[in-house]
Amino acid sequence: MRNILPVRVYYDQNLMIKKRLVSVSNVEPESLYIVATPIGNLADMSARAIEVLKDVDVIAAEDTRHSGHLLQHYAIKTPTVSLHEHNEQQRSEVLLSRLQAGEAIALISDAGTPLISDPGYRLVSLVRAHGINVVPIPGCCALVAALSASGLASDKFSFEGFLPSKQAARKHTLEKLKNETRTMIFYESPRRLNNTLNDMESVFGRERPACLARELTKLHETIVTKPLAELQSWVDSDSNQQRGECVVLVEGNRIQQDASEAEVDRFLAILLDDLPVKRAAAITAALLSVSKNKAYEQALKLQQK
Ligand code: SAM
Repeated sequence: MRNILPVRVYYDQNLMIKKRLVSVSNVEPESLYIVATPIGNLADMSARAIEVLKDVDVIAAEDTRHSGHLLQHYAIKTPTVSLHEHNEQQRSEVLLSRLQAGEAIALISDAGTPLISDPGYRLVSLVRAHGINVVPIPGCCALVAALSASGLASDKFSFEGFLPSKQAARKHTLEKLKNETRTMIFYESPRRLNNTLNDMESVFGRERPACLARELTKLHETIVTKPLAELQSWVDSDSNQQRGECVVLVEGNRIQQDASEAEVDRFLAILLDDLPVKRAAAITAALLSVSKNKAYEQALKLQQK
């Protein structure tokens, strides 16, 4: 059961008022905690994550043996049950009953943030549908760590998870992303890295900047940003780069952004011959799927010229 300590009295340093602490447990009953764990370096575990994992009634882990190492390292003795992609549906029902009976439960995955290319989505949606509190305990996530150090635009990005392993399906997926303007982030297996970079180069072009973020937070951490053709030949020529865990990031399509602006102008120039600014902008916006405001602003500029 949870670690409820006796009533304590202390003085709040700032307010100089006496407060009574009934419980110093870090968890609330009938709550599901989604706890991020390290992606390599055990020291990246947050103090709050450790406290929550110690205080919950049970930890649902993707692989109980794998997580045993982390739990042992932090002297966390809470019982564990498994929750992985093959038993998630049935296990979620059991965990829901335990939550409804008042227990506090934590969910962890093998590494990083649960639900991010990891199990947990079914559990969280089921539990929330029953009105139960779900609390995130944030921490490591490989895609965020990679993006933060890549040097690629981070204001907007699209997380694409794992690409299909078969080449035809992978290329088809990449083709659909050809005009994506946001930075794209992919998880990839080191075995497929070389082929994937090859396919990316052929779809996105040799010059498109890309980043390989490998073994993040670990001894052989490597973060390299280069044009796709250079990145691919570097990985191809050094088999060490095809080991460990990796994230691949590709810059969004910049040419497409410029082209679409030019295209908006082209449409507007034709329509403005016969229509008022507002009408020409509205039709252009509808035809090219751009915002009405953007089309209107461009129409005004064109008219002034
Ligand atoms: N839930 C995790 C997260 O929050 O990032 C991701 C789990 S997913 C099953 C595993 C993939 O994440 C790996 O194949 C790799 O693409 C990426 N990954 C995990 N740890 C990593 C690390 N230390 N360095 C680079 N990539 C990593």
